[in-house]
Amino acid sequence: MAGGPAATHLVPSQAHITVASRSTGALEGTVFVRMLARGLSLWLRPAARSGRASAVAFLLLALAACGESADVADLVLTNGKVVTVDEALPEAEAVAVRGDRIVAVGSAADIEPFIGEGTRVVDLEGRLLLPGFIEGHGHYTSLGRAKMILDLTQVTSWDEIVEVVAAAVAEAEPGQWIQGRGWHQEKWTSVPPGSVDGVPTHHTLSAVSPDNPVILGHASGHAAFANAKAMELAGIDDDTPDPPGGTIVRDAQGHATGLLRENADALVYSVLEEAQAARSEEERWAEFVRQVELAGEEALANGVTTFHDAGASFETIDGFKRLADEGRLPVRLYVMVRFQTNDEMRQHLPEYRMIGYGGNFLTVRSIKRQIDGALGSHGAWLLEPYADMPSSVGLTVEAPADIEETARIAWELGYQLNTHAIGDRANREVLDIYERTFGEEGGADRRWRIEHAQHLHPDDIPRFAELGVIASMQGIHATSDAPWVFERLGPERARSGAYMWRSLIDSGAIIGNGTDTPVEHISPIASFAASVVRKDRNGNAFFPEQRMTREEALRSYTINNAYMAFEEDIKGSITPGKLADLVVLDRDIMTVSEDEIDDAQVVMTVLGGQIRYERTGGE
Ligand SMILES: [Zn+2]
Repeated sequence: MAGGPAATHLVPSQAHITVASRSTGALEGTVFVRMLARGLSLWLRPAARSGRASAVAFLLLALAACGESADVADLVLTNGKVVTVDEALPEAEAVAVRGDRIVAVGSAADIEPFIGEGTRVVDLEGRLLLPGFIEGHGHYTSLGRAKMILDLTQVTSWDEIVEVVAAAVAEAEPGQWIQGRGWHQEKWTSVPPGSVDGVPTHHTLSAVSPDNPVILGHASGHAAFANAKAMELAGIDDDTPDPPGGTIVRDAQGHATGLLRENADALVYSVLEEAQAARSEEERWAEFVRQVELAGEEALANGVTTFHDAGASFETIDGFKRLADEGRLPVRLYVMVRFQTNDEMRQHLPEYRMIGYGGNFLTVRSIKRQIDGALGSHGAWLLEPYADMPSSVGLTVEAPADIEETARIAWELGYQLNTHAIGDRANREVLDIYERTFGEEGGADRRWRIEHAQHLHPDDIPRFAELGVIASMQGIHATSDAPWVFERLGPERARSGAYMWRSLIDSGAIIGNGTDTPVEHISPIASFAASVVRKDRNGNAFFPEQRMTREEALRSYTINNAYMAFEEDIKGSITPGKLADLVVLDRDIMTVSEDEIDDAQVVMTVLGGQIRYERTGGE
């Protein structure tokens, strides 16, 4: 089986046969009996391989031998097609859950004895049940925040942006900030005359918002657009030098156009942050909680039960921890430490290390760094100049030497390092840094990651497997970036190096999947479809030879992402003993036609044995 950790990492979990039995003493309730019987598991596995023989039947036998009986489940989902992502029993019909754990998986008949008086039974009516999706790389509070500001992701022209902002200004107090995000000039049907680098100058926008500062984030997260008022507050004028790692885009006369690339947008965002920091602590906490809730709702509605948050400060992690203590985190979070200096990390990382905190809702054991920008905004760091901008090889966003120092800290303190790298130069530099840090010892057991690993030089593709570096990729980026990948890289570099899933999998590398939400919509189904079909939104195939199989794509969204977080023993497959994080879809994405995959809807999301989302309304 290619493309996943199962071969080496599911085997240990098969040895954990977890069953529930009622406590026989005076104590009420149940206890979990974890049977680590290696002999039992060895006995089970060949049987399970031989077709439909279910582990449950053997489990019952084993229990009978122990003088115990199977106990009542809290929740049973039955009469479905259960794709487990567990080699021991790849397909089943039903799952029994007690507390926050899966207690049994098997045929409907196997699971029947687990149904008792208090059991909630869900008839799946033949629908597909999968392990809960794990978002491998997203931005959690940004997702919540995106739900609170202007959503420009569907905008198809500059004029529409101006209209949306004008409407927001009409509702706002003078001086109040207007925020938006998600615009992308490549999604516009036309570009106004007088544009610079494909984006208009700020004047029409500034005319509708003379007294309100406006900042509109680019869909890539690697640029923003400001109006005159925002630039004035940020002190940006004709003489302002470009900040390190950023560009204030200017017209032929040297006037700032409003477009701020990479680090240049921080000039405006820092002023916005100051304004927001002036608010009371209660106001800020309330906004944070709202962001957490909104992001959670969006995740659960899309079948996401665990979310890898690609970057939070210590302060944000303090907030997550407080919510975890109060049982208020809506989904499970694996949070990468970000926005702290090396000195701060060296000092504080040990106290921030958390594994499965708050009932497996919060894990902190990794650091996020970022070596370059994004391809769409010409920020990706390339080995050779851009095909459509021969003067540029892109940008380094954070100094490689500083990232290397972080690598040493991560190595010493037992943290993973997850570095954003998009261009082929960026990926090579990060692989080099990791290789030097690993030294003779090797670092495969450290599971360090490269976030995006989007464009690779062919020579570097095998290095992922050789070094044990995980490629934390986003299927949906390939198809949404496809239209401009050719322009930026030219056809040959696009063919040999862009979104190389098949080549990476075949080389033995492990690939995670995700959406980089809110850069893309969080839908795992859309990213699964992109991974499998690899067609852009105009229906053009984008190097289809690099497609994943459906099994690989499913693994990339479940067990592989669990592996990326050292959580494959408790997540990523429907296996007795693992957390009962499950998703029900309205159609079988493993067998429907390619065109139909994208139409699949999440019907139900179960998190820790609780039904946390149910689709209402018409089918
Ligand atoms: Zn990201």
